[in-house]
Amino acid sequence: MKDRSDRIFYVCPRCGMSIVNEEECTFCGSTMIKTPYTEDDYIKAGNSKKFFNKLLNEYVYGNPLYSEFEYQRREEEKYRRYRGSSVLRCPSCGSTAVTTGQRGYSAVYGFAGSARTVNRCGNCGYSWEP
Ligand SMILES: [Zn+2]
Ligand SMILES: [Zn+2]
Repeated sequence: MKDRSDRIFYVCPRCGMSIVNEEECTFCGSTMIKTPYTEDDYIKAGNSKKFFNKLLNEYVYGNPLYSEFEYQRREEEKYRRYRGSSVLRCPSCGSTAVTTGQRGYSAVYGFAGSARTVNRCGNCGYSWEP
């Protein structure tokens, strides 16, 4: 098994992107800051949101390079990727095995009498309204 302590988190001081072992931000092209945190710390943290907030608090917010505009742009981009205008992705697991059907015809929901469309993930079974 590969040692996870070799996998170091880098944070972009401009847009807040965090990537493992990447010295240049793939979103805005800025030079990333090397943090002392590894993938091991990430897994130990248990809560990814908390972990990334910690990185943002320590390296991004308050950094003179920080751009709220870039940050928002990156967040929107992330959101758009999940909503997926071209490729539909499951918001729960990220799988693209999504089928779109009508609620009324779904065996899962029975004949509810509603014609509202619903997306359903073939991977984890999560369903949501588009
Ligand atoms: Zn960036
Ligand atoms: Zn899913």
